Formats: sequence, structure tokens, C-alpha cells
Amino acid sequence: AETTASDVWSFAVERRSDPASAEARAAILADPAFGQAFTDHMVVANWSVEQGWFDQKVTAYAPLRVSPAAAVLHYAQEIFEGLKAYRHADGSVWAFRPERNAARFAASAQRLALPQLPEGAFVAALRALVTADEPWVPSAADGETSLYLRPYMIATEAALSVRPSHEVLFGVIASPAGPYFDTGPRPVSIWLTTSTIRATPGGTGAAKCGGNYAASLAGLAEAVANGCEQVAFVEAVEHKWLEEIGSMNMFFVYADGRVVTPELSGSILAGVTRASVLELAAELGHPVEERQISADEWKDGVRSGEITEVFASGTAAVITPIGRLAWPEGDLTIGDHSVDHGVGPVTRQIRSALLDLQYGRVPDTRGWLT
Ligand code: PMP
Repeated sequence: AETTASDVWSFAVERRSDPASAEARAAILADPAFGQAFTDHMVVANWSVEQGWFDQKVTAYAPLRVSPAAAVLHYAQEIFEGLKAYRHADGSVWAFRPERNAARFAASAQRLALPQLPEGAFVAALRALVTADEPWVPSAADGETSLYLRPYMIATEAALSVRPSHEVLFGVIASPAGPYFDTGPRPVSIWLTTSTIRATPGGTGAAKCGGNYAASLAGLAEAVANGCEQVAFVEAVEHKWLEEIGSMNMFFVYADGRVVTPELSGSILAGVTRASVLELAAELGHPVEERQISADEWKDGVRSGEITEVFASGTAAVITPIGRLAWPEGDLTIGDHSVDHGVGPVTRQIRSALLDLQYGRVPDTRGWLT
């Protein structure tokens, strides 16, 4: 990504005097549960209407002090991002397409009436935190491990009037992440909900804001109550076209090799993994299509054998195979669960291509790593 000098912030570094011991850190890195343990430090920066951005620093990871009247707590004026830093076999540490997350963060900020953070500052913040907490990036020898990075921006002004906050906090925290699936990828089951809608036309579905996730939880609870692990949402008008699975984008593999994903409708989050999968699948020789796809096409395609594989894409789990679809009136098994643990060959191929790039096992010819 292009950055100008004025975009690139420098962060004061206040190292904590009581970091985790090497033994305590090693114990966490040996078996990190997703998003449960955090590194020694965090990034914080403040913004106000009068001063713009100020006091950007790396400091000890600690609870924040916010007023109980802070706008974020009442009106959910908040955005976030998620990406990972990967350690390569030579020990070096790389972020995957962080400029894409920076651009999405900027678009989310605009939608939520939050101030713009220069894209160079976003990447500089990640760099500052990963540099300070480099020993927290799990070793390449431990397989699909990484350091998950969570940038966020919240409205901190203590004022109950409904308007864009005059004070904001930007921060980044980091959490070591183990392999999402301990024993290699495993197909998950999906509940197709039409009773709960995640996002609406003109709403915030294309932004990464906390409110979208709050709005998705009842659908997830419905999925779990129906014996499924994740939930798929349809759009708000016709309740017909597929949008997303929980916090992942979805892909369909056809018997003729086509790879199809719902087009960006305005209420779908444009995943960085989604964009990468589209590029890699095309390079691997699969015709790719971004278009509307209905829940009926999914069901009919699986029944007729025209759809051979279904998977979801996202930073946390990379590529997740989908082995079952259930809805109030029915239930379908997808793919052949007697072969390769139920993970189809195209899903495997795309998953490997992506992981090989992220972990530096193939040359980064596209400049996707920073
Ligand atoms: N959709 C939603 C709603 C998400 O939260 C995410 C995770 N950020 C994705 C899709 C996948 O996006 P990405 O590939 O950038 O992680």
C-alpha cells in the first residue's frame, strides 16, 4: 500500500515492568484458545474534535478507563478489524494484506461516523505492537499458529445525546492463536435461518461494526439450539439470496469446477480471505463467479450433485469446510464424508494455496505479505 510520510505515525513505547515470564508465555503458546489470552502490550491512541489524533503509544495491556456515559456503551459507535501475523520458518514475522484491513477500517469508520485513521497509521500501529510483543508470535514449527491482531475504535465521549462522538479511542490488542482445528480441517454444520436477519439494504452490513455481531447472535443461538455449529443468513428483502455464514463469507464448488460466491450486495462484509480465495481459485484454473445465489440453488445443487463442496472463508479459521445444511423443514449432507474426512479436493487445494502463502512456504509473488 502507498503511504505518505505524514501518514506514518511513530508510537511512544512504554514497556511494562512486569511482562509474563518466558515460562508463562510458553505455556500459553503451547495451546492457545482463540481470543482468550492477550500479549503484554497494547496500542492506544486518542482523538478529539479539537486535537485530532494524539498520544499514540504502545503500553501495558490493561483495562481501559471509560465513562459509564461513553457513547460506545449506549449507541454502539464502534468498529474493529481482525488479521493475523504469521511466523515463517526463518523466524521472520509477516502480516497478510494489512493494507486491505486498513482500507476496510477506513470504510467502516466512515459508515459509523467515526474519524478517519490514516491507512499508514493503521499499519504502523500493527507493526509497533508486533515488534513490542514479537516473542508472542507462535513458532512456525507449531503448525497453523499465528498472532491474531484486533484493531478497534470506540466512541469515548461521555455524552448521552445521539450524535457522532467528539472523543474517540483507537487501540490494537493481540492474542496468540492456535490451529482452528486441532486435527486438521473438519466439516461444520450450518443452520439456515430466515427468522433472523443480520443486515439490511442501506444498513451497516458491509461495515465491521460491533452492532452487526450483536444482531447475529440470536441467529447463532437458534443454530446451536438446532444442533448446528454456525448460522447462514439470507438478505432482508426477499429472504432468498444467501449472504454470509456467521463471521465468514461462503463459497460453492460446482461439479464442473466453478467456484461461486455471493456478490457483494452492500450488506455483506468484503472479506480479505474472500478476495484472496477468488484470486487463487482463478489462478488454480477454476472459473470464479460473484453473483446472487439463492438458498434453493444451494439445496437443489447439493441434491442433484451439481454442487460438490461448500466452504466458508475468514481470517480466524481460514477455510472451513461445510458438511451439513439444516433448516426448519429439512437437512442435507454435503460431499462424501467417507473420503478425506469429508473435506473436498477443491476446498483442500484452495486452503493449502492460501496457507502456503501466509506461512511463506511459496514465494509471495503478489506482495501480499508485510
Ligand atoms: N463476514 C463477516 C461478517 C466477518 O466478520 C468476517 C471476518 N472479518 C468475514 C466475513 C471474513 O472476512 P476476512 O476474510 O477479512 O476475515
